[in-house]
Amino acid sequence: MSLVQALLRQAHLAPDRPAIFFGPQEWASYGEWAARSAALADRLHGAGLQPGERVLVFMRNHPRYLEVLWALWWAGLVAVPVNAKLHPREVEWIVGNAQARWGFVTADVAPTALAGLERQIDVNSHDAEALLAPAAPFDTVPVAERAPHDLAWLFYTSGTTGRPKGVMLTHRNLMTMGLTYFVDVDPVAADDAIVYAAPMSHGAGLYAIPHLMAGARHVVPASGGVDPAELFALGQALGGLSTFAAPTIVNRLVEHARQEGLDHAACARAFKTIVYGGAPMYLADIQRALAVMGPRFVQIYGQGETPMVATALSRAHLADTAHPRYLERIASVGVAQTPVQLRVADADGRALPPGEVGEVLVRGDSVMAGYWQSPEATAAALRGGWLWTGDLGSLDADGFLTLKDRSKDLIISGGSNIYPREVEEVLLTAPGVAEVAVVGAPDAEWGEAVLAFVVLQAGATTTPESLDQHCLAQMARFKRPKHYQMVQALPKNDYGKVLKTALRVQWQALADAASNRR
Ligand code: AMP
Repeated sequence: MSLVQALLRQAHLAPDRPAIFFGPQEWASYGEWAARSAALADRLHGAGLQPGERVLVFMRNHPRYLEVLWALWWAGLVAVPVNAKLHPREVEWIVGNAQARWGFVTADVAPTALAGLERQIDVNSHDAEALLAPAAPFDTVPVAERAPHDLAWLFYTSGTTGRPKGVMLTHRNLMTMGLTYFVDVDPVAADDAIVYAAPMSHGAGLYAIPHLMAGARHVVPASGGVDPAELFALGQALGGLSTFAAPTIVNRLVEHARQEGLDHAACARAFKTIVYGGAPMYLADIQRALAVMGPRFVQIYGQGETPMVATALSRAHLADTAHPRYLERIASVGVAQTPVQLRVADADGRALPPGEVGEVLVRGDSVMAGYWQSPEATAAALRGGWLWTGDLGSLDADGFLTLKDRSKDLIISGGSNIYPREVEEVLLTAPGVAEVAVVGAPDAEWGEAVLAFVVLQAGATTTPESLDQHCLAQMARFKRPKHYQMVQALPKNDYGKVLKTALRVQWQALADAASNRR
């Protein structure tokens, strides 16, 4: 089993079909993609890299990302995709941990040599061009034999606490993820196009697999990042795009469409499908997104350990406004994707009845093989045949999963559980509030107290008193924040996730400064 089969198949079927675009310009046909990946694979093999070796990919989004990835798989190597925003010292730690000898980089993120690598190739250099230059027809370069359980992708978790862990994903894991896309997320035709706005080192890049399987077009924005105006223009030029975006990016696209006065038809010309996930999408935000951009959304819930595959909330469910529990459903993350089983469990792994909150467990062919060289962490995450996700949630009688929070973000105040997300959902409906993040902070009286960090809409004003009134009108008294901190922006990682650990640290610093003043 190899992910390369899908590329060979397309390159044989339609070698001249446009495959990769850089901005609106074609970068490679399927035949050219296969030829370059095969050439690089051949040279990697010639240089003595052995199947199973790890190779660093530390790149900003770029068309070469795809050529390099498939070359690595062609040669039986394991890609180690690293977030382009990481500091070189963090990347060097990963290089050492993964024992990578070779690395492919873009010079903007790795301007100097990374310690630990024997060979560092800037994908925009003459060196890279020479390595990728086809020397023989692609189908004369043998594809390294790989078993379904062999590693394809060693993905380092964002590691908000402690060192990141390498999630071991196999060819079977990624094949499962790719095939499931068509069943649970969105059908794909050859004239469809996916745009890589979010980092390709993460889920957005993995969606190259189903789009390659379908022979669709792959588009990397010229900016290499997220610029709503650029993305809309690309969509208009190339035809409705699909994309994976974290909720914060979705909100920016929606805001752009609103400001530009684009109607549903104009949004449909730019975007076929926007898959959102990776962080909570608040009810108020998805309602606004649907109202502004129309029915072009699908939600997925997954994690690095079961990439893009745990649940999905379909376009049809998001459109079923007549359903008596419509609002609950669109605030959920949907139902189990086809290849996995889902369980909400107590601490012993026993299934809890509908409505009860427990840890979300997942099992199936998308679930990782374990953490790289971390038997203890693996044993903690993979127990009794299930992946313990660390997410808390509850199922309804129809199988819709509503996520509460990560277990580590749960606030216990005065002995009661408070799910930050519930408080955030309420505060987001208060006039003038643009974004909010709720965390717990140590409190002598209550154990933990609820804190809200609030970003206001441009030009809006509000007071802690009026936010408090808003909360009192909508939720139990004990859940409402004890403190509000107005901020210009929330700290987020490269994938758009709010960094709650950073907020807790920020609050502690404020509290320390206040006590020093006293
Ligand atoms: P990562 O491994 O970095 O992809 O992070 C995965 C985590 O993001 C999950 O364990 C969830 O806590 C969160 N997450 C992913 N998808 C969703 C979603 N659709 N809604 C809410 N949280 C999500």
